[in-house]
Order: sequence, then structure tokens, then C-alpha cells
Amino acid sequence: MERLQKVIAQAGVASRRKAEEMIAQGRVSVNGEIVSEMGYKVKKGDYIEVDGNPIEKENKVYFLMNKPKKTMCTSNDEFDRTCVVDLIHCKERIFTVGRLDYDTSGVLILTNDGDFANAIIHPRYHIPKVYNLTINGILTIEDMKKIKNGIILDDGTKTLPAKFKFTEKDKEKNQCSFDLTICEGRNRQIKRMMEALGYEVRRLHRKQIAFLHCSDLRQGEYRILKPFEVKQLR
Ligand code: URA
Repeated sequence: MERLQKVIAQAGVASRRKAEEMIAQGRVSVNGEIVSEMGYKVKKGDYIEVDGNPIEKENKVYFLMNKPKKTMCTSNDEFDRTCVVDLIHCKERIFTVGRLDYDTSGVLILTNDGDFANAIIHPRYHIPKVYNLTINGILTIEDMKKIKNGIILDDGTKTLPAKFKFTEKDKEKNQCSFDLTICEGRNRQIKRMMEALGYEVRRLHRKQIAFLHCSDLRQGEYRILKPFEVKQLR
């Protein structure tokens, strides 16, 4: 037994909130009867229609992309910039699992499975995300300690301890590159961590989410996640 609004959302007809509105507006029927009661539970085999059209249970799909720079993780953009969902050929209504900034590249998961997305995003599950970045300066030992212990961000909250590994130091260009592993996914977290230490991020690439990497995909390329990969991430 599942809530009617959840089943409608899972069918890709609308978001859960929009589905609730449709139910309240009397646009949904179950087995030929209009249902406007919120929280109504449907059984397997129930025949559901929205505006007189039967809904079909949507297939769950899972993609791994190497996100190129200069693309958006939103489903549409007011300035007509390219959205990653438009680079994937599928009929399902997919969305990105978390977001990467317009100028960030790298590992991105896209799906139409909200519960799966939540298991990856929620800090409770401690899924590690590895970023490689270049900043304008050379990190000091003090800064490295702060990264490892947690940094106070601009909103006064402290980040969880992060792992750190140098990949390159360039004294001539006054910049350095390193891997940073975090288990959270706050808005613009890496850039805000660096800003809190007085640096600017010049380049940001997500190398890995858990065991998934995209080094075998060119930027903009994607592949379907294998069933065992989906299972392991849940
Ligand atoms: N942290 C950021 O600051 N930007 C991203 O795109 C991802 C993590």
C-alpha cells in the first residue's frame, strides 16, 4: 500500500507536492472513483487516472555523467544555458543527485528515483565525495589542519572533518592543487571552505562519489549505472 500522491509522483506525472494539489482539485480517480482525500493509500493493481488519463508506473533509471563545465544542474535555465538533463537521452523525467556549480566538472548521478537520491545526498549516510581543486595560493600547514578538523563557514556552522591530499604545488603560478574528501554536500561547500581560509577556487572537479569515478568518460559523456552499483549505493 502506498500513498496516492507518491504513486503519481513515481509515475513521473508531477512532483509529490503538485500531485497533492491535483488530488485536492478532484483531478485524480482510483478505480473510476474521484479521490480527493489526502493520504489515500492505493494497492497494487489499482487503476489510477489523472485528468482522465491512466498513469503508468515509471521505470527507475540511473545514469553516471562526467559533467562538463558551463552546464547547469537545474531542469531549465532562465538564461537558456545548457542543462545536463538535456544531454541525456531518455524519456523519464530525471534530475541530478545534488548539484555541481556551472563551472564545476566531474562525477554526477542523474535519476528519477527520489529515495535513491536521498540516500546519496543525506549526510547521515556519510557517502564520501572526492574533489580535485586548484586554488590561488599555497596552503599552509595551519590551513591543512583546519580542513582536517572542520572549518567555520560564513553562516557560522562548522564542516565535518575532511581528508586532504596534495597533488601539485606551483610556486611560480602561486597556486596548488589537491584532493579534498568530504561526506557532506552543503551548497557551494568547497568554495565556501576555501573562502573561509582566504583563498579563491580556480578550478573544481569532482573525481568520485563513493566508488564511482568518471575517468573513463569524456566530459559530457554518460553511462547507465550497473544494477550492482545502484544496490551498493542504497
Ligand atoms: N562545492 C562547490 O563549491 N561547488 C561545487 O560545484 C561542488 C562542491
